[in-house]
Amino acid sequence: MNKFFYNIAIAIPLRQTFTYHSNHKIKPGIRVKVKFGTRVKLGIIMEVIEKTEIKTKSILQVIDDYPAYSNVELNILRWAANYYHHPIGEVVISFLPSHLRQVKTTIEKQIKPLKEESTSYSFEKKLTKQQFKAVKELSKLTGFMPTLLYGVTGSGKTEVYIRCISKHLLDNRSVLLLAPEIALMPQLEARLKNKFGPLVGLYHSKMTPSNRYRVWNKFRSGRLKVLIGTRSATMMPAPKLGLIIIDEEHDSSYKQQEGFKFSARDIAIKRAQTLKIPIILGSATPSLRTLKLVEEKKFGIIKLTKRITKKNPPKFSILDISETKVTSGLAPLAIEAISNILNKNKQAMIFINRRGFAPQFICSFCEWKAICNSCDSSLVLHYQDNRLICHRCDSAYGVPSICPSCSMEQLSFIGTGTEQLEMKLKELFPKIPIYRMDRDSTKKSGSIENILSNIHGSQSGILIGTQMLIKGHDFPNLELVVAVDVDQGVTSLNSSAIEEMGQQLIQVAGRAGRLKGNSLVLVQTRYSNDRNLLHLKSGDYLKFATALLSERKLINQPPYTFEATIKASSPKIKTNQDFLIHTKHLIDSSRCFVIGPIPAIQSKVRGSYQHHLVIQAKTRTLLNSILIDLTQQLTNNKNKLFNKVRWSINVDPMEF
Ligand code: ADP
Ligand code: ZN
Ligand code: ZN
Repeated sequence: MNKFFYNIAIAIPLRQTFTYHSNHKIKPGIRVKVKFGTRVKLGIIMEVIEKTEIKTKSILQVIDDYPAYSNVELNILRWAANYYHHPIGEVVISFLPSHLRQVKTTIEKQIKPLKEESTSYSFEKKLTKQQFKAVKELSKLTGFMPTLLYGVTGSGKTEVYIRCISKHLLDNRSVLLLAPEIALMPQLEARLKNKFGPLVGLYHSKMTPSNRYRVWNKFRSGRLKVLIGTRSATMMPAPKLGLIIIDEEHDSSYKQQEGFKFSARDIAIKRAQTLKIPIILGSATPSLRTLKLVEEKKFGIIKLTKRITKKNPPKFSILDISETKVTSGLAPLAIEAISNILNKNKQAMIFINRRGFAPQFICSFCEWKAICNSCDSSLVLHYQDNRLICHRCDSAYGVPSICPSCSMEQLSFIGTGTEQLEMKLKELFPKIPIYRMDRDSTKKSGSIENILSNIHGSQSGILIGTQMLIKGHDFPNLELVVAVDVDQGVTSLNSSAIEEMGQQLIQVAGRAGRLKGNSLVLVQTRYSNDRNLLHLKSGDYLKFATALLSERKLINQPPYTFEATIKASSPKIKTNQDFLIHTKHLIDSSRCFVIGPIPAIQSKVRGSYQHHLVIQAKTRTLLNSILIDLTQQLTNNKNKLFNKVRWSINVDPMEF
């Protein structure tokens, strides 16, 4: 009898495929069950091989008749596993809907054959000159040509996407549109459904597993032609993918921070390259990485510099609070400005990136400070829940009435969060509706839509929100924004924090003044002479970003150097340090620059300490080859230390 050999990616944390055999011919991309050790595991056929020297086990069962991924898609996944130095089985399986990830379910889902259908549609809105030009240029693109669509907020990027999408639909190709946040998807969905009706589908992690499985199948078979998805949709199989769009390409949510630490943006770019199709990266605040590639002419750029409404963008004003007493985070001048806006029967927004009542709870007599037992981070006081909550691991503690350390009744809080601002503003403006949008106020499903529709339905009011509130929404009556919490970004040593601070300020400004051209963004800061803030003050994001880029180039920091972190995690600091020092010696220091071991910003997670090394290399290729060597040495190491730590690699990290 004939024996066929297959390399299989198995759902286990090992950085390799395994060879099995079968008497049947099985196509790559098909799911199978195999025995690994004593367990039955899910595997995906990666390739067929002619023969093997090693003794192989037989595949237990072929689950599907049809592949979950095409050969091209498998190639991209293989690339992603190499690029991120992550176990191939986990990579391949992470992009499947959960129904297809299990081997033990009773209702084992099967992958069905492909059926093709096509339909037709129409559209109408008259494009502005800039939009028209953008659509024309974008439609000309054939083959792989990543293009940045830099469009200031309110310049009509979505309309441009829609036109580009319809061109591809007319040619019976599908389109993948990635969005960073679930909260932004209903709006996009409504606009796209308006044009393309039932051809539009959604895919994100808050959907039920059955829904996701259904959408996966429909897009894969071409019954859905436009898929709006979050990062988990990056590798959604599609019969004829014609275009990928990454909306808000700068957004850090595209990077997964746990497990398989991939960037959806980067895998999507690779996918477009492999398929030789265009990819559009849209943003009003593009990432420095993208701008660098534009500068190097590796990416194209198309600009939309005018707002559709032709109204002036909001003006920035820097409010120096270095010698001002603030009340719940607000300077007297800011309160006055809010009051003036409310008198004009308009809306004001306070942007603050901290939820809860106060970020620190302390004893003013001794040095005691409320700290999470399992991750060492400051506990945040939540007034309504009457709890001290850890924002890292969500542990909740009761609020003590006397100091647990010295028993004095001198407990107090420091700093301001959204909850405190809401209470303070209610006290100052008792007749005014106040809308708070943060993770706590939006726990119930439908609450985001609810808050947004209340804001839209009211004339005057105060909006308080974290970064949730500043992404993508359009508030016609909003004429004042107060940004109260930028100093953390301004002074941060973490290079991505400054970039993110700039993006947030420009984005928050974009929510205002769409109806009238005289709105204002007040930036409260103790560093009013900061160079980056002064560039932002012009309202011109590119000015800020260009200056920051040349500075980075000068001092050889990302995106001009390529980074990865090696993280160690264990219950003992000493174990981490020993492991990382050992690891550091394994790296050839003439090829790169190694920093550490240093505690991670998230220094303790669920009882385990986190430390890491930062590796910086001059080129991507060099970084990759260093990591290949290193993972091999770490994987094959017999040192006892290695049993006591969990280690992982993060390529292009955002957090340190
Ligand atoms: P962006 O995504 O760049 O912030 P949007 O695509 O959301 O901008 O467009 C802003 C607003 O302008 C939306 O309400 C949209 O419907 C409207 N709009 C876009 N293009 C046009 C156009 N050509 N004519 C009229 N209104 C438009
Ligand atoms: Zn005390
Ligand atoms: Zn914690």
